[in-house]
Amino acid sequence: MKIKDILSKKKPTLSFEVFPPKKDSDYTKVEEATIEIAGLHPAFMSVTYGAGGGTSKHTVEIAANLMNRCGVTPLAHLTCASSTKEEVAMQLTRLKEKGIENILALRGDRVLGKEMISGAEYQYASELVKVIKKTGDFCIGAACYPEGHVEAANRKEDILHLKEKVDCGCDFLTTQMFFDNSILYNYLFHLREAGIHIPVIAGIMPVTNSKQIKRICDLSGTVLPQRFKAIVEKFGDDQASMEQAGIAYATDQIIDLYANGVNAVHVYSMNKPEVAKKIYQNVSNMICQ
Ligand code: FAD
Repeated sequence: MKIKDILSKKKPTLSFEVFPPKKDSDYTKVEEATIEIAGLHPAFMSVTYGAGGGTSKHTVEIAANLMNRCGVTPLAHLTCASSTKEEVAMQLTRLKEKGIENILALRGDRVLGKEMISGAEYQYASELVKVIKKTGDFCIGAACYPEGHVEAANRKEDILHLKEKVDCGCDFLTTQMFFDNSILYNYLFHLREAGIHIPVIAGIMPVTNSKQIKRICDLSGTVLPQRFKAIVEKFGDDQASMEQAGIAYATDQIIDLYANGVNAVHVYSMNKPEVAKKIYQNVSNMICQ
């Protein structure tokens, strides 16, 4: 099923993300986690794609298994910054052959200290969106950044580039994680003002251990609200308490989003079925099954 059709029902939905293993020997572990999360029957599940090789080779396989073995709509991520045009074309052919209809078109992160990964033929995700559009009848998603992308000079410029990307043929957007819903509400207002009217899926990250936090802030430049910082200060050294508090915080955000008309929520579940299950149970009566 195409994600744009799921979103057009305008009912609260919950979806989850998994990432492929870094080592082949971990494939079974990831597969088991994926099947367990799929057992919750989420609206769809996304499978990330490691830019520059790494975790990318299993993305199609995991996405196809989600669809064929678990009956869950997959969203396969695809990055372009570290790939040649031929590599992107090959990956699109594989996705098409497997009958995967939904692709999240991404540029991929730049390698630290390098302007652009050498050999890259694509500069921006918008170019990838155009290629996917030409290749087949895919439902295309793209990333957006409520607090601005880390490389953008300012949020206004970032939204202008986002509008260009959307106009290349995106059907929906998924946000970077954020920990303060008012930032998202403000962002949505600015997107509509900029003429971006496609559905926006809110990305929520349940922070279940304090080590995640530095990495999250470095990668996404996200601002941590005082309420969140207090939780980490108090429970950061106690894994069990931090997990409970992180799940409660994420649940709170999700309920507030649903209550304020943001229907589509995507949980960065990080291959953790126990976290996905707890969040799912906390909102199960509110979502569209
Ligand atoms: P783009 O849309 O190309 O934007 C990148 C930057 O370039 C922005 O600052 C934008 O303002 C600017 N820009 C765009 N067009 C122009 C232009 N014409 N001129 C000048 N500037 C321009 N990474 C992975 O490696 N694998 C994944 O699976 C993955 N999944 C993700 C899922 C989500 C929901 C999100 C939010 C991010 C994900 N990422 C993933 C990270 C992503 O690849 C990085 O954030 C990357 O730095 C930007 O990707 P993008 O597709 O948003 O890039």
